[in-house]
Amino acid sequence: MAEEEKPETGFVKEIRKQSQDFPGWYNDVVRKAQLADNSPVAGTMIIRPYGYALWENIRDPLDGLIKETGHENWYFPALIPLSFLQKEKDHVAGFEPEFQLVTKGGGKDLEEPLVLRPTSETMIATVLRDYIQSYRDLPVLTNQWNNIFRWELRTRFFLRTREFLWQEGHTFHETAAEAEEEVAKMLDCYRRIAEEWCAIPVLTGRKSETEKFAGAQYSTAIEGMMMDGKALQMGTSHYFGENFTRAYDLTYTGRTNERQYPHSTSWGMSTRMVGAVVMAHGDDSGLQLPPRIAPVQVVIIPIFRGDAERSQIETALQQVRADLEDIRVKVDWRDERPGFKFNEWELKGVPLRIEIGPRDLAKGEATVVRRLNRAKQTIPLGELGVAIPALLEEVQGALFRRAREFREGHTVRVDSLDALVRFFETSIGFAVTAWCGREDDERTVKKRTTATTRVILSSRRPEQPCAVCGRPATVEVAWGIAY
Ligand SMILES: [Zn+2]
Repeated sequence: MAEEEKPETGFVKEIRKQSQDFPGWYNDVVRKAQLADNSPVAGTMIIRPYGYALWENIRDPLDGLIKETGHENWYFPALIPLSFLQKEKDHVAGFEPEFQLVTKGGGKDLEEPLVLRPTSETMIATVLRDYIQSYRDLPVLTNQWNNIFRWELRTRFFLRTREFLWQEGHTFHETAAEAEEEVAKMLDCYRRIAEEWCAIPVLTGRKSETEKFAGAQYSTAIEGMMMDGKALQMGTSHYFGENFTRAYDLTYTGRTNERQYPHSTSWGMSTRMVGAVVMAHGDDSGLQLPPRIAPVQVVIIPIFRGDAERSQIETALQQVRADLEDIRVKVDWRDERPGFKFNEWELKGVPLRIEIGPRDLAKGEATVVRRLNRAKQTIPLGELGVAIPALLEEVQGALFRRAREFREGHTVRVDSLDALVRFFETSIGFAVTAWCGREDDERTVKKRTTATTRVILSSRRPEQPCAVCGRPATVEVAWGIAY
């Protein structure tokens, strides 16, 4: 997020080449497709209407899944007393460097500084002490949609900003088994949002001890591969055991009349998903949006000269629009050349374009072009109502398969440290190895390759020894260079 750039008002200007300068390409696409722009406050961004609509189309189905699985939306304050955050020592150690503090209010120094929420475990554990008294009050399944503040040093649109939007779920359970089931269930909701809506295949599994959330017993995550081969963590789900409830003295009376600590979880997915969609599907022409989340699924470009042709097309479009009433359609009547409009809607990643001119009308058909591969076909006007929804589904599937093939083509198995180092020197993508689980290995690999463990793919004991140190291996792990 370079500070000196002016807001992007024009379109179809040159964007840097994805293959030559991926970060530059990403920055250009985000701004020129009008997803987001720089803000007057360093490290934060303005989400523009097109980007916000894309976020809403990810957020809404996720909110649906969260409610279907029995959770209710709450809202807790954004300002958290510093003392709340200091009660869980791993948690505060992990987040303190990113705190943004409020120290004055009403012109006076506050007795206790307030932290702009970096995450809400501490607030929610404190508040829910009053709501959880007995085992009959459990489980408590909360979620909240809000903004989060973390003082990031290196910021990138959507991927890492000092303020971002997300949901955070926080749940409290009677048993460890129930809480662990919750952790897995919510991770699967994230997998579904990533794969079924955003068309991004993900690896799922536990994080290593070094990569886990500060204060968790263990963390799980979904990890996607972007088109530069880097890994993006796209959602996390954490198991806390009794860590937080003990630190916050949150107890309930159990079935045997004893005071007990509930087992808690938390899980979150953020506006980072918008960045994931850009980097998993885009190309040199710009965005490439999966139809299920595209703010505009179909753009209609009327091609005409003069008022007579225009009104002919307008009449024909009335029926077409009625046939496509369940589809997010935009008709672009602006006074611009068709070629300009084609480029602009390609930049904005609209999955399908319908071109209608007098010659098409005379034949009672329209030309339909897919953003995916620019494949053209003519379709009778009367059949658009059936053909377009089917084509959108087809494109949705094709984007997912393409992303999966890309990931599979850029994932290798290696069995030695040398091979791991060579892989990251010469290739992009994920390397899978047997691993013993020692942090020393992670330090060694990070130093030599900058790669980190992304997720533990299987805790089935591998047959080979640890690829890094040769000790007996306990897990299979995916290594990647992370965003
Ligand atoms: Zn090892």
